[in-house]
Amino acid sequence: MLSSFFYVYKRIAIIAIIICILFIPLIYSNSIYYNLNDNFSENNNKFESDLFIWPIPGYSRISSNFGLRKSPTAGASTFHSGIDIPAPEGTKLYAIDDGVVTFSGWGAGGGYTVTVQLNNYPDLKFSFCHVSPILLVKEDDQIKRGEIIAKVGPKNVYGINNNQYKDENGNPTNGATTGTHLHFIIKQNNIPTDPLNYYKNIEN
Ligand SMILES: [Zn+2]
Repeated sequence: MLSSFFYVYKRIAIIAIIICILFIPLIYSNSIYYNLNDNFSENNNKFESDLFIWPIPGYSRISSNFGLRKSPTAGASTFHSGIDIPAPEGTKLYAIDDGVVTFSGWGAGGGYTVTVQLNNYPDLKFSFCHVSPILLVKEDDQIKRGEIIAKVGPKNVYGINNNQYKDENGNPTNGATTGTHLHFIIKQNNIPTDPLNYYKNIEN
């Protein structure tokens, strides 16, 4: 009788410990700062940089490169000002370095956009486009390297006056976009440069 009591008690204790361990990453993932768990996400070992954090841990497939391209959707330019990284809505986006927010709002073709001027490289700005309309930062905010400053937005957004961007069903979209992704821009002296110039592909 007593031994079976301890047997059951031990099993409950083991299950409780396992549940606690499973919750640790969840607790950490709610931190606003970049953490090591994100770094080890699937598929995130492709790009590294001595200068900057990769903005979207866990996602490194580039669906559209910087530069000239065929426009995938009406209104998207044939010159692609950044790189596209597909990811689900809600994926966290991290400041690549310390800076000040110079824009946070509706950016037409970019959809909801956040732009940051870097403190350590005053000629550089980076932008995240097609982000969530629930903006996490506002203009003039000082932000830290590794801070979560936005999340990947939905494909469709509503309530924008004169939104010229629509999907195949005529529903308004989050800028010129065909699906949820991060459009990542780095500008030097306000001229778009290839963000991948600042990262090395360690798979090749
Ligand atoms: Zn793009």
